[in-house]
Amino acid sequence: MNKEVALRCPTCKTLVTADDEFFPFCSDRCRLIDLGKWASGGYRISSPVLDPDVLEGLNPGGGRPKDDDDGS
Ligand SMILES: [Zn+2]
Repeated sequence: MNKEVALRCPTCKTLVTADDEFFPFCSDRCRLIDLGKWASGGYRISSPVLDPDVLEGLNPGGGRPKDDDDGS
């Protein structure tokens, strides 16, 4: 039972096996394209989000912050 590991190229969705030279990409070109996406902010999971202010920003319609003290 030698299950072959295969993923789809994140750039062009071509099926790529683990022994491919550029795994998980199908080619060096696709790898560079994906790196370019990261660099330009296309993806936003590259760093952990631990700042409470950032978490609030990710919660649309989340209402008031806990430290609301506008005197109402
Ligand atoms: Zn590709």
